[in-house]
Amino acid sequence: MRNLIPILGDQLSPDMTSLRAGNKDRDVVLISEVAAETGYVPHHKKKIAFVLSAMRHFAAELEQSGWSVDLVRLDDSGNTGTITGEIERAVERHRCGSVLVTEPGEWRLQSALEDCAKAIKVPLRILDDDRFFCSRAKFADWAEGRTQLRMENFYRDMRRETGLLMDGSKPVGGKWNYDAENRKPPKDGMSFPRPRETKPDEITEEVLTLVETSFAGNFGDLEPFWFAVTRAGAEAALEKFVAEALPGFGDYQDAMLQDEPFLYHAVIALYLNVGLLDARVICCRVEAAYEAGDIPLNAAEGFIRQIIGWREYVRGIYWLEGPGYADRNFFRNERPLPDFYWSGETDMACLRACIEQTRAHAYAHHIQRLMVTGNFAMLTGINPKAVHEWYLAVYADAFEWVELPNTLGMSQFADGGLLASKPYAASGNYINRMSDYCQDCRYKVTVKTGADACPFNYLYWDFLARNREALDGNPRLGRSYQTWDRFDPERQNTIRADTEWFLETLE
Ligand SMILES: Cc1cc2nc3c(=O)[nH]c(=O)nc-3n(C[C@H](O)[C@H](O)[C@H](O)COP(=O)(O)OP(=O)(O)OC[C@H]3O[C@@H](n4cnc5c(N)ncnc54)[C@H](O)[C@@H]3O)c2cc1C
Ligand code: SF4
Repeated sequence: MRNLIPILGDQLSPDMTSLRAGNKDRDVVLISEVAAETGYVPHHKKKIAFVLSAMRHFAAELEQSGWSVDLVRLDDSGNTGTITGEIERAVERHRCGSVLVTEPGEWRLQSALEDCAKAIKVPLRILDDDRFFCSRAKFADWAEGRTQLRMENFYRDMRRETGLLMDGSKPVGGKWNYDAENRKPPKDGMSFPRPRETKPDEITEEVLTLVETSFAGNFGDLEPFWFAVTRAGAEAALEKFVAEALPGFGDYQDAMLQDEPFLYHAVIALYLNVGLLDARVICCRVEAAYEAGDIPLNAAEGFIRQIIGWREYVRGIYWLEGPGYADRNFFRNERPLPDFYWSGETDMACLRACIEQTRAHAYAHHIQRLMVTGNFAMLTGINPKAVHEWYLAVYADAFEWVELPNTLGMSQFADGGLLASKPYAASGNYINRMSDYCQDCRYKVTVKTGADACPFNYLYWDFLARNREALDGNPRLGRSYQTWDRFDPERQNTIRADTEWFLETLE
């Protein structure tokens, strides 16, 4: 009996459970480009081009290794526009007796596949996705009975379990976490390596033309297009990162510079999230670089923590919390997303820099997402779902299972503290310390109130004051509230008035 094996756009690995369960000589692989996936949010043009080109290259790779592959292109006539519609058509076309598919990455597709299973006349089997260190069921077991689901506890368990950077039962170097060493501000005269750039081949050129014509109105610069779109290209990008940037990754992880969008970051999340890189391979490669003496421990630990800690943890939270997680709105924020999130047209130099580099590269690093665009959205009371949809659209690495908990939980505190122990709120002082943005800003970071003051300065205090009822019991905010209480009433009123004025200008 022939199986149909649908491979989704973020399952581009020859090691998928569905492919392992299938048989090259008998089964058919279905790779379908569908309008529902290119359009569920207005994705950045580079992101659409990246995923479509990687899918087409993966189809060719599978064919070369002996699989029969049915590639349905976005503009093929008869394309139903949905993955489930394409599964139904392909079952008929290839006279398949059953469908084997690896579990999708998000609730939206999970429920679509469940509906599809009811609609088609043959059995549809959903297999676990074992590219992750921690399965959905294992995370649920870990979470069971805990009053707090803190990443640090999960991470330590993952270190013990994987044996990564472990010396018997103890962490290598004696400490679990070197984060305190990873917050150095940038220094003048530093130089940074660039991520590896790949020249578009014929397949990518064809996709670029398709995206330019079919998604002309979408956000983002399509060219220059430099992402890798094959496993070999992604592995070469990883090697360049390990050799050139990883040694400085730890120290300057939180730094931000106007003319350096990538600093010492890896720019590999997009490859990892679609399956062009494997998380286990990456972690072993980084551990080996540490053991060979090529990188310091704080870089190796900091990097491995992001992968086996944060990445696995947010996936666990996503599946544990269910589809309703996207509707959480702890602060009841309802302000619409300002237009400048799409245009970059704002006098605030930090926001302008982060949005402009997002438009150019479909990339911003973690602190830019968290402490600039995310921080501003939370302080100004923007609706968290609108913020989530923006992040999901504009980053090449954005897939809901990883983006949603990071945005809604970590950056907007919209889950009320399930994921973060306190809101990631900061005044201009933090941004000034970690970046060079303030030098060219129309606002003055040292001024606290008035027309020239950095808006983050008064927005920060107004956010704390107006959400006092919701946040007062938070032990990590006690000192901030004591400071607010020490401000004289006139200063408090000025902060409120400046905030009101600023929010009016946003509208
Ligand atoms: C508001 C917000 C939205 C985010 N949305 C996404 C998203 O859609 N997709 C995504 O992959 N990451 C997301 N992140 C996490 C993080 O910002 C990106 O993984 C990282 O910036 C990707 O760039 P990089 O590959 O250069 O990562 P590096 O900084 O070099 O880190 C190395 C790797 O660690 C992993 N990682 C680091 N931090 C996290 C994290 N918090 N959660 C999960 N994995 C992490 C990524 O796989 C990343 O490639 C988001 C963070 C925030 C604050
Ligand atoms: S002064 Fe304020 S608004 Fe301007 S760049 Fe600095 S932090 Fe951003």
